[in-house]
Formats: sequence, structure tokens, C-alpha cells
Amino acid sequence: MLDLWYSEFHTDQVKFSIKVDKHLYTEETPFQKLDFFSSKEFGTFFTLDGLMMVNEKDEFIYHDMITHVALASNPSIKSVLVIGGGDGGTVRELTRYPHIEKIDMVEIDEAVVRACQKYLPLTASKLEDSRVNLYFEDGVAFVKDKKEAYDLILVDSTDPIGPGEGLFTKAFYQDCFDALTKDGILVNQHESPYYDRDSKAMKKAHNKLKELFPVCKVYEFHMPTYPSGHWLFGFASKRIDPIKDIQKDEWEKIGLKTKYYNTDLHIASFSLPTYVKEMLEEN
Ligand code: SAM
Repeated sequence: MLDLWYSEFHTDQVKFSIKVDKHLYTEETPFQKLDFFSSKEFGTFFTLDGLMMVNEKDEFIYHDMITHVALASNPSIKSVLVIGGGDGGTVRELTRYPHIEKIDMVEIDEAVVRACQKYLPLTASKLEDSRVNLYFEDGVAFVKDKKEAYDLILVDSTDPIGPGEGLFTKAFYQDCFDALTKDGILVNQHESPYYDRDSKAMKKAHNKLKELFPVCKVYEFHMPTYPSGHWLFGFASKRIDPIKDIQKDEWEKIGLKTKYYNTDLHIASFSLPTYVKEMLEEN
């Protein structure tokens, strides 16, 4: 009997493991190493360069939180850009809003999309929606010449290493600022506050964003399979404040059923632990 486990180093002293039924697929793409596994606890999951990206069991948490916080802060968003997000989970949540007219998704690695369409159809199912335009390019270059084109930009990226590195730079955030309309919102993957390597990335991202955006906040959620289980998104905008401007009634009228997100949690998610607040105040 083979005893097969997927293991990921969360630090060089901490290892997280999942019992695996089968290694379903592996590919070295020009950008990264892609692997798919099946497991009893988390269903099918995929990793990039040995780091957990998406699994069938907890993906709803990440995709609810990257999408609905911005949409409840401004329910009249019509035009959205997703950068990264090759598994399609973020696009799937966006397509649930009938009033969104255009969703551009720019993913650097077409192989991620194709493999997710095959092995993770639950997340990739809406990439064919007629409002979705897929671009296989570097998001950093894509956003450069887009002036006031989007009401919302969601950066659903890998960590700030390899192809994801440019998505954590000030020049990229400036281009996102320029690509947003006057009520525009930028939500981006902000790593975890808990372990040193991740918290340094989180602080750097926040410090760069707050030099550019009048509203710049961080919100948290619980992600069982990411290092420490405690993860953050950044919320930056030209004008809209996610707490003062939340439109609870408007959002609830849309009638979406969500398993993690709700408007009480929306407000609570911006209340951060003291050590995280202190980190964010440091320069
Ligand atoms: N939920 C995931 C997480 O935080 O672990 C992120 C999911 S998604 C799969 C991340 C995607 O970002 C990957 O498919 C990767 O190819 C893409 N990506 C990384 N750098 C990029 C870039 N510069 N432009 C566009 N897409 C990029």
C-alpha cells in the first residue's frame, strides 16, 4: 500500500501535509511547475512551484472574500479586471452579478487555465461566460496603457516571487490607480501577517499602496490550507470606504447565496489583531 502525502514548507521549520489519493497531473510550464492531486479531505487541489493555490474544499472562502467585499462596497461596478486567477474562481463569483458588463482576465500562464478547466471544473466553470475576455499576458504590462478603464481590479496572484513579483511593485500599483475610474477599487492578495517571510511582503505592499491611494485598508479571512491559516487582502480605492460606504441593503437585494461572506463579516474583517495593526503602522 502506497502512503502518499503532499507536503509544503510553510517556513523552513514548519511543514503542512495532506494525504493524497493520486497525483493527477504535472507540467513544467514556461513560468512555473504545475501539479494537480486528489485527496479525501480537500478534494482536488493544485499547486504552483510546490505551493497550494486552490482546493475544492476551502476555495469558497478565498473567492468570496476577494470578490464580494468590493461589490458590496460599490454594487454599481460594471467593468472588472482580474489579474492572475487562472483557476477561474474569482471570475465565477463575478459572473453571479447580472449588472457586471465586462470581465477581463489577464493570466500569464495559459497552462494553468487549461489544466483547471480539466481538473477543477467547479472553479473554472464560468470562464466561458459571454462577458469574460481572457488574455494570456503579463498583468504588469497589460494594465500599463489602460486609462480609467475599470471600476474594479482584483489581483488574484501568486506570491511575490517568480512571475508574481511585478504584481507587488509600486509602479504596478500606480498603473492600477491610473486604470481605475473615479470610484475605482483595487483588491489584492496581501499574504499572511503571521510568518516573517509573508508578513514582510504584506507590509511592503501596504506601504506602497498607501502612498498612492486615498483609502488604503487591509482585511482578513481564514484560509485553512495557506500558511498559518490567517490571510489578508488589501483594499485600496480612490474614494470608496469599505466600511462607511458599504451598501448592505443594495447588496442583499441582489440575492446571492454565499457560504463565507456576509455583510456583518465584511465589516468585522477590517478589525485586525493588534500585532497586525502595529505592523501596518510601521514604515
Ligand atoms: N488563490 C491563489 C493563491 O493566493 O494562492 C492564487 C490563485 S491564481 C492560480 C494565481 C495566478 O496568478 C497563477 O495562475 C499565475 O500564473 C498568475 N500570475 C502570476 N504572475 C502573474 C502576472 N505577472 N500576470 C498575470 N498572471 C500572473
